[in-house]
This record gives sequence, structure tokens and C-alpha cells, in this order.
Amino acid sequence: MVDLVTQYEKIKAEVDQNTQHVFQTAQFINGPEVKELQSELEAYLNVKHVIPCANGTDALQIALMALDLQPEDEVITSDFTFAATVEVVGLLKFKPVIVDVDADTFNISLAAIEKAITPRTKVIIPVHLFGQCADMDAIMALAKKHNLYVVEDTAQAIGSIFTSKDGSKNAAGTIGNIGTTSFFPSKNLGCYGDGGAIYTNDDHLAQVMRSIVNHGMGKRYYYDRLGVNSRLDSVQAAILRIKLRHLDEYTRARQKAAAFYTTYFRNDPRVEAPAIASYSTHVFHQYTLKIKGIDQYACQEYMQAHEVPAMIYYPMPIHTQEAYGPENFNHDEFPVTNELCTSVISLPMHTELDEEQLTYICKTLESYLNQ
Ligand SMILES: *Cc1c(COP(=O)(O)O)cnc(C)c1O
Repeated sequence: MVDLVTQYEKIKAEVDQNTQHVFQTAQFINGPEVKELQSELEAYLNVKHVIPCANGTDALQIALMALDLQPEDEVITSDFTFAATVEVVGLLKFKPVIVDVDADTFNISLAAIEKAITPRTKVIIPVHLFGQCADMDAIMALAKKHNLYVVEDTAQAIGSIFTSKDGSKNAAGTIGNIGTTSFFPSKNLGCYGDGGAIYTNDDHLAQVMRSIVNHGMGKRYYYDRLGVNSRLDSVQAAILRIKLRHLDEYTRARQKAAAFYTTYFRNDPRVEAPAIASYSTHVFHQYTLKIKGIDQYACQEYMQAHEVPAMIYYPMPIHTQEAYGPENFNHDEFPVTNELCTSVISLPMHTELDEEQLTYICKTLESYLNQ
């Protein structure tokens, strides 16, 4: 699904130099590389504060810890996402309110959010799934009307740009109160281990979250609140600084591969290519097709037998997962996610795909469908 070895070979000299420098100066924790990366990300995203942390799950948890929420307060998020988004809500003893998504973008449904809002609702977490933004104009309007926080899960969409109705353009994760991201190796901006970051334009929230990532410390050895230990280490920051310089070029490579797939299957009525919303760029963390009536596992097995690593993101709705108490949900309230989980298949998507590989992948899927 990803080819991080080839990608590394191309930036080896730069990465090795930067990481060697960290080894030689031995400032492994909170070294200057972390501060540099922070400033470079703030500039890249055009956001006031970036707070590096240990991973994308921590980023979500810290964001929720920073808001003045009470146990059982309700947090609305998507049924069609990676579990981390929902997990942190439950861990903090807030109530995850799971809602359905839109069939074309895979992103959280506005109508479903609206229906789920109660007097206890405090937060909406839109997930910018597979690399394109949810409809942030509509979500922000709803949040304003009901006085809710918005935490954007941008783990899959770093570099994606949202265009508002008024024409203003903003990076994914910089529109709501807080944005979170992950630098897991296979993410669009991935390090060589675990990493994450939190973004905000709010000075107060930034101060609180900077304290939370460091055990809730304010003044040195004075603890103002409960916190966690969540740091991005200097070696990862050194690697990310190099990869950030290449991020736009990586995004273009992903978009080119996506366009190839979409063009290849454009006249095939069996296959539905991912839709790109008018208000967002798509950075294609995943390239996910919908194929009605497909046996996803048989297809995946066939592809794998021909050395194409297709994946099923995601095979199960969150509301059916044991950890989240399927008995608390009405299965029929999630028709879109239920359908997606039986019809999606993701093709290899990374920065190193060439036309020969892309053609082979398409032909392999086609020959499976023609069987
Ligand atoms: C990867 C991912 C996360 C979690 O990131 P980690 O760095 O693995 O903790 C959260 N949300 C979404 C949507 C993700 O894809």
C-alpha cells in the first residue's frame, strides 16, 4: 500500500544529515529541531500555534482534555473512521455520539449531526477522511448556532485546503477550534516512528494544551492541571522537517496516481471513483473505490495473489464494534456506512507509484471484475 523505502532512498542524504546532527548534539527530547518544525508547520498551515505531540491519538485526547467538558457530555463524530477518533471520547468518559456519513465524500453527514444534537452536545469531531475536508462551512455554522466546539481530525488530510463560500482558503485543521494530526509513517506527512501535532488559532487553548502535553505543568515543577506525557522526539522532528519540504510534491504525486485510477475506470459502470467535493482539495491519503455487490475479501485475496496489496478501509462501522457497545445503537440509522463497509476497496496509494505499476494495478482489478 505504501513504498517508504523508495521514498527514503530519494531523501536519504538530507534525512541522514539531519538525524546525525541530532545524534551528535544528543538533544533527543525538546531539542531545537522540535521548535523549528513547529514554526515551519505554523507557516505551512498558516495557523498561530502548532503543538507537537507523541501521536495522532494523543493529539485528539489532549484536544478534548483542553475543552471544559464534564463526564457524559456528548461528542458527535463519524461512524466511518479509524477507531482512534471515537476511542479517546470514551476513554475520557465523555459520550461518543456516532452519526452516519455522506455516500459521495465518506465524510460526516450534516443532516445526521443536526439530528443528533442535544442540550448535552459539546463537541463535533469531523474527520477529513481519506484526504479531503468535510463541509466545514456548514459544520462551523451549526457549531456556532448550538455553541459547540469543533475539533478537526486531520490525521489523513494534512495539506488539504478548504475553500469557504466567501472564497477564503484555509488548511484542514485550522478552521475549527482545534485541529489534530498524525505523523504515523504511512500518513501523508509521516515520520519514522510515531508522532502527531495539534493546531489552534486560540491563544488560551494553545497555552492549556502546551501544559497538558507536559504533565499539566505551568511554571517549572508547578502542576496546574492533570496532563500527560506526550512529546514528539527530536529525531522524528528532524525527519519531518525534511519531509515537510517535500509535502506538496508528495501530494501532487498522490493526486496524479488518483487521476490515473479515476481515468482508467471512468467508463466502467461497476466501479465508482472517489468524488472530490467542490469546497476541498483532495490529498488522497487513500484512494477508495466503491464497487456495488463486490465480495471485498475475495477481491482483496485475488489482488494479493497478483501482488497488489488492496485494503478494506473500513470493514466495520464504529457502531458495530464491540468496544463501543453495539447495543447502544440502532443499526438502521447508519445506512450509508453500513453500505460503504460492504462495498469499499482501497488501491495502493503513495508517492512512488509509476505508470507501469498503476496500469498493472488497474488491469488486475479489471481482470478480477471480469471473471
Ligand atoms: C491515523 C489516524 C489517527 C491516529 O493517529 P496515530 O498517530 O496512529 O495515533 C486518528 N484518526 C484518524 C482518522 C487516523 O487515520
